[in-house]
Amino acid sequence: MMTNTIKHHVNDDLMMAYSSGNLPEAFSVAVAAHISMCDECRISMESHNTVGGILLEMQTDIKVGPDALQKTLDKIATSCPVEKVEKPSKIDFPEPLSDYVGESLDTINWQPIGMGVKQSILSTSGEATARLLFIPPGAAMPDHSHSGIEMTLVLKGAFADETEYFAKGDVEIADGATNHTPVAADGSPCICLAVTEAPLKFRKMFHRIIQPLIRI
Ligand SMILES: [Zn+2]
Repeated sequence: MMTNTIKHHVNDDLMMAYSSGNLPEAFSVAVAAHISMCDECRISMESHNTVGGILLEMQTDIKVGPDALQKTLDKIATSCPVEKVEKPSKIDFPEPLSDYVGESLDTINWQPIGMGVKQSILSTSGEATARLLFIPPGAAMPDHSHSGIEMTLVLKGAFADETEYFAKGDVEIADGATNHTPVAADGSPCICLAVTEAPLKFRKMFHRIIQPLIRI
């Protein structure tokens, strides 16, 4: 477990939507995969779940004292961190993800999308797309601006954009205002899970033409 090295986490909006079951499947997989790698977010999720449960009880007329919510929050604040679950090291992916892609990198059905970059699209419901990306050392992710929310979880290696560095377990959340060029860092391939809410808008004509074909 590399919990202590994770610097970029799932944000509150995504956590809340995940906890209440309102995320598209593709985003849920990515959030669940991050949570399985990150104690901090696992604790945060349990807080959301507990608070959500209390709010639900209050709404459904079950007798809950007026201070129940505060009591619960206090309890969460003082409770011990949950037990870590150690995964066997032979599995290349966090468990929520291995349900979709199997346990080994060797069996991924990669599809080349140019510049040495490869992808493998997960089979999820249609509102969002989740795909594994393989980025060779020093290579950039396809040049794009974002439309909608894009969430990228690093599974192996690292990538860096103009301002920040993302290592294993880190999550980058980008939106339509983000315009950057992430590059696989540290001289080794970067493998990540990228989830997009809507098709990416490529600035380059070539990419725009092939976009419908590769469903990126
Ligand atoms: Zn986290």
